[in-house]
Amino acid sequence: MCKVNRREFLATSTAFLSVAAEAEILRGRTVASAAESVDVDQIAPGVYFHEGSLADDAPAACNNGWIVFEDYVLVVDANYPAGAKLMISKIRALTDKPIRFAFDTHHHGDHAYGNQVYVEAGAVPVAHTGVLDEMRRLETGYYGGKPGRWEQAVGGRPDLKDTRLKPPSVLFPKELYFDDGKHRVELMHLGVAHTRGDAVAWLPKEKILFTGDVCVNGPYNFVGDGDVEKWIATLEAAKKLGATTICTGHGPRSVASVLDDQQAFFKVLQDQVHSKLMNASPEVAKAKIEEIRKAMKVNAQVARYVSDGGKDDGFPGQVQKVYEELSGKPMTAFADYGHTARRSHAHSHGVNHAG
Ligand SMILES: [Zn+2]
Ligand SMILES: [Zn+2]
Repeated sequence: MCKVNRREFLATSTAFLSVAAEAEILRGRTVASAAESVDVDQIAPGVYFHEGSLADDAPAACNNGWIVFEDYVLVVDANYPAGAKLMISKIRALTDKPIRFAFDTHHHGDHAYGNQVYVEAGAVPVAHTGVLDEMRRLETGYYGGKPGRWEQAVGGRPDLKDTRLKPPSVLFPKELYFDDGKHRVELMHLGVAHTRGDAVAWLPKEKILFTGDVCVNGPYNFVGDGDVEKWIATLEAAKKLGATTICTGHGPRSVASVLDDQQAFFKVLQDQVHSKLMNASPEVAKAKIEEIRKAMKVNAQVARYVSDGGKDDGFPGQVQKVYEELSGKPMTAFADYGHTARRSHAHSHGVNHAG
């Protein structure tokens, strides 16, 4: 056996590669790191955003952010385990500072099931107390009850098989601040919205707001665990912060107007349901869903929130939720249609249909 040093090994093994490829390999980690972080979006010094994807094969489902403090890194949302690993690799390409906190904006799998990966990397999952309450209510298998969402989700995602549910262990009832003199991040529960336990991360100096799924930017609203009426009020509270950069839970990052747009979507939906469905028979109501979809699709402010249909069509479930809130009655006409739609949309969002 002959010995070669790393450079000789690389030089030999790259003999058949292009000059550019050889140069990349010889330059090693620096280039690899740059390539890894190509899709990382630095919003402000030490503040990063990563846009996830709800495509079936995407490792990172929800959007992420991270803030590099003087002595540690705080990550916004744990994502799924595969997303957590991807984000850790991206952070590691930028800094050697320890990743100390993973903030779950809410309890859904696409935001919190990567907690165990962060724990193994030395971080502590942090969340509003409502996140733990929702996990106790819905992740019943973990707490000794009948199988909950985690058990049902494991069958659908290979990355869940090698890890386990890890609820947040540092909890705050209303607010929790991180401030090292350079960066300040305020974690705040602004009210019930997408779930009963949503919290946002507010950076007052940079006027950046990480909203979790309190606000999304596209047809991603899952309403099954939320309260649309309260959600509108919570968005109003979020608007009052005065953020100029909004990092939503899903979809491209945006500016202040995305909070108005998301709020308008729910208000228009309420108006439509109120005027078209309140006195309709079940049969008529069912037919009117497409009428409402069309009316909202031509409203430029809210059109991008309205699903085009297809297998992950969340729109009927949204109509059903608003109808039930406004009328106080279950929408029996949509029992099958709505449930199926809600189920497929929930699946893509990381929430199983049992919830
Ligand atoms: Zn989500
Ligand atoms: Zn969610």
